[in-house]
Amino acid sequence: MTRSHTDILIIGAGIAGASAAAELARTHRVMLLEGETAPGYHSTGRSAAVFSESYGNWAVRALTRASRDFFHHPPPGFSPHPLLKHRSWLHVASASQAAALEQFLATEDIAGRARRVGPEEALALSPLLRPETAAAGGAYEQDAADIDVDALHQGYLRLLRQRRGTVLTGAQVTAITPGARGARRWLVASTAADFETDIVINAAGAWADQVASLAGVAPVRIQPCRRTAALIELSDCGISDAWPVTIDIEEAYYFKPDAGLLLVSPADETPVEPCDVQPEDLDVAIAVDRLEKATRASVKRVRRTWAGLRSFAADRSPVIGFDPVAPGFFWLAGQGGYGIQTAPAASALAAALVRNEAKPPELAELDPAAVSPARFAGS
Ligand SMILES: Cc1cc2nc3c(=O)[nH]c(=O)nc-3n(C[C@H](O)[C@H](O)[C@H](O)COP(=O)(O)OP(=O)(O)OC[C@H]3O[C@@H](n4cnc5c(N)ncnc54)[C@H](O)[C@@H]3O)c2cc1C
Repeated sequence: MTRSHTDILIIGAGIAGASAAAELARTHRVMLLEGETAPGYHSTGRSAAVFSESYGNWAVRALTRASRDFFHHPPPGFSPHPLLKHRSWLHVASASQAAALEQFLATEDIAGRARRVGPEEALALSPLLRPETAAAGGAYEQDAADIDVDALHQGYLRLLRQRRGTVLTGAQVTAITPGARGARRWLVASTAADFETDIVINAAGAWADQVASLAGVAPVRIQPCRRTAALIELSDCGISDAWPVTIDIEEAYYFKPDAGLLLVSPADETPVEPCDVQPEDLDVAIAVDRLEKATRASVKRVRRTWAGLRSFAADRSPVIGFDPVAPGFFWLAGQGGYGIQTAPAASALAAALVRNEAKPPELAELDPAAVSPARFAGS
């Protein structure tokens, strides 16, 4: 098979790979390879599609804040639809969770974004709740949103093509070998074609460690975890689209309105091997049980269920940067449960690091060392 040359080859066309590919295609020849026949088949197509600046750890929140402007003002022609639709967030706490709520509200960068609400206001905002579920009140983030994930993903793929980049589906990467000594190239074999590239970007989601192993690069120990979601029809109860995402302060469940139904998750986080993950009946039953215990809702029918993988590094921050040992091997992985809402800033940071430029100004508060793979060196 003949081998074509590219500047940058990105493995994985989920939101991470697609966004980085579009950013980098402004300055480089970019080839984006996806093993499945459709980009977005795995985690990207299975999210709850939420944007919240009070969700995730500090690095995640910094990346999310830095992404806000892109969501509101994407490049001209990026999407025919707005990328965000207003949807507030309500973290609720029972009496026994009062300390967790206090700790949450005391977090410096959350305090300015989520305000304390008393039990009565919590019930007014999310009327399905039982009074005891919100006995300690909650934290209300007014400016959260639903994300049009497909518009975001397709927008990046379109931008990539406009910038003369290429996306190749059905191209499962099977081997990655360093080029001749001193050439600083990688030879990449896939089920569709073979390539020679200066830089490999590992945006393979749950498979990030496996892709690193193909290249002989030490894994950073990304752990894929299954999360389940269900769309539920309620008995004798209307569902208002004005309701917030309502989430247990300790993330034991969350629910939000979704086109006349209720999207519910038991917020499970079960470690699994990378795979085309499917929902387990038990997790769906737990979702229904937690919903019925926390609210006055009575479930009439479960209309649809799905599961997806949220993949975490040990400290739950993303992994963005060149491998400290393997020149030209770049990590863009470990996005956990936040890869959609952080994609604009994460891809802008990745592009700046690849180009050896200063980080984007909107990321002033994030030290790239906090997300660099170098933090795992020697561990
Ligand atoms: C139930 C659920 C709810 C979520 N809710 C939210 C939310 O509300 N907001 C939010 O921001 N995030 C949310 N997330 C997380 C978000 O979906 C992920 O962080 C994000 O999709 C990860 O994107 P990715 O591109 O890294 O991974 P993926 O979308 O999984 O893409 C990786 C791609 O790499 C490809 N690949 C792997 N190995 C190879 C290979 N060898 N060769 C070629 N291709 C390969 C795979 O086929 C795959 O398509 C949720 C996730 C789940 C499961």
